Amino acid sequence: MSRRPAPHLLSGPAGGGHQARKRFGQHFLTDEAIIGGIVRAVGPRPGDALVEIGPGLGAITQPLLERTGGLTVVEIDRDLAERWRARQGVTVVESDVLKVDFGALADEPARAGRPLRLVGNLPYNISTPILFHLLPWAHRVQDQHFMLQKEVIDRMAAGPGGKDYGRLSVMLQWRYRIESILDVPPASFDPPPRVDSAVVRMVPLAAPPAVDETLLGALVAAAFSQRRKLLRHGLGRWMEERPQPLPAAAAAFDLQRRAEEVPVAEFVALAQALAQTAD
Ligand code: SAM
Repeated sequence: MSRRPAPHLLSGPAGGGHQARKRFGQHFLTDEAIIGGIVRAVGPRPGDALVEIGPGLGAITQPLLERTGGLTVVEIDRDLAERWRARQGVTVVESDVLKVDFGALADEPARAGRPLRLVGNLPYNISTPILFHLLPWAHRVQDQHFMLQKEVIDRMAAGPGGKDYGRLSVMLQWRYRIESILDVPPASFDPPPRVDSAVVRMVPLAAPPAVDETLLGALVAAAFSQRRKLLRHGLGRWMEERPQPLPAAAAAFDLQRRAEEVPVAEFVALAQALAQTAD
């Protein structure tokens, strides 16, 4: 596979000597084969409501722009945001992505109510908070293609029964179909990160089970708080401490298991049962 650096490199004219900023998790993609693989996986079309999180120097932005004629970028680094402001077809949201209201973004007239297509080589230091921040807007999203630490994607996609299965797996699989589509070595970036990376595709489920997300989040956190012990220690105590009496369906939940043995659907069913008043 070609590891030829892309022409927009840090030291090149477009990079303009930009120093990668560690505090913003800046590792710029330079591997054309990987960039091509991501763009093919996204399959951008004119008219798509594309939003890229962290365009950086434009490794992905540039080819997406060429194929669609326009996109929105969310960038926290003032210098990088400034570069993109001058580009035709690029709408810049200079902000911390964790403060962006993606519902409001989807409502903007330019997008005419089309579902968002989110793309990004995410800053790894805040990748999990970004995934949780986006969760409430899943119904406004067509798909998400993100570069992440490989280990995070393994946890997102894990099924019950192993050490990777946890809060992240349950909270995301409840809402998205998750697929790891491309492995990416450290050498594909400048500067190279210390970890292996991968690209994940996340497609919101068309008809996710109706459940109170906050309640589900709280019970899943309680369940995995003591993952080596039986559920009666963490989840059981959390249920006992709730002020509301336990509905029968929730009381019947088998707590003599470990959290990692419980499929997503059972956690969801428990949250649905807890939302009912006691019978
Ligand atoms: N997309 C570029 C690439 O692939 O070469 C840059 C990827 S770099 C890993 C992460 C990008 O996210 C940088 O441009 C960084 O400035 C930006 N970023 C970091 N933290 C951010 C935040 N909280 N909100 C928005 N953008 C952020």
